[in-house]
Amino acid sequence: MGERPAAKKTKSAKTNKSPVEKPAAAKAGAKAESRTALVRRARRINRELAEVYSYAHPELDFENPFQLLVATVLSAQTTDLRVNQTTPALFAAYPTPEDMAAADPETLEQLIRPTGFFRAKAKSLIGLSVALRDRFGGEVPGRLEDLVTLPGVGRKTANVVLGNAFGVPGVTVDTHFGRLVRRWKWTDAEDPEKVEADVCALFPKSEWTMLSHRVIFHGRRVCHSRKPACGACPIAPLCPSYGEGETDPEKAKKLLKYEMGGRPGQRLKPPADYPGLPASPLGAE
Ligand code: SF4
Repeated sequence: MGERPAAKKTKSAKTNKSPVEKPAAAKAGAKAESRTALVRRARRINRELAEVYSYAHPELDFENPFQLLVATVLSAQTTDLRVNQTTPALFAAYPTPEDMAAADPETLEQLIRPTGFFRAKAKSLIGLSVALRDRFGGEVPGRLEDLVTLPGVGRKTANVVLGNAFGVPGVTVDTHFGRLVRRWKWTDAEDPEKVEADVCALFPKSEWTMLSHRVIFHGRRVCHSRKPACGACPIAPLCPSYGEGETDPEKAKKLLKYEMGGRPGQRLKPPADYPGLPASPLGAE
């Protein structure tokens, strides 16, 4: 196992002892971290991630709330990259809820086929477009309780849309988010709604949306499901699961993905401050 990296000297490190000096608080298997220590450690992880991923953003390409809603529904059981490669043709064919509500199901299915589960997803897209047209005047509603009444839209999708298209704070519990926050012992829950509640309780509302992006960025780039790159992880000193993955710094570096490993990200049209490469269109990888 490689040497555990020392905590960075941030503003908070001046006032609090680093977790390396205080391993009982952060070490795997350590007993009963106090609530105060947990909140402090969670917020420090968030601050570190904010520095590393200052350019964190939603990784679905979209230009309006309807596009984000559709892209998020399509993102179930597939990658954001695959969705981003699929939506340009879809949005060109059906730019508005009214257009999509009137779509021929088979034509729509073929357009979204690369995202998998295309029959069920086509049904959801047509259903939600009909609902937007008939119940919401062709506009995506900006309230959770309305969004979750749309076919194929659950809390996760609703929170993505609210947070990123309407500026309403929300925590998005996807597969990366759940995995990482359990590794960090912010929660031991598996149920996404419970995870969401546990994480929301650790942070002020104003942090929820960006925290979600940063955690998901870290999960995609460094803290992978099967091979977390612990030896190249900027928050290793704060992580109780350090050592679950590769700790040798050189070997860990080779596991880094996307801009950190010099490879393209998920978006075909990333924001201007994104330091990595844009992804390629469908068929051009
Ligand atoms: S990569 Fe390793 S050290 Fe970093 S957050 Fe994940 S499990 Fe913890």
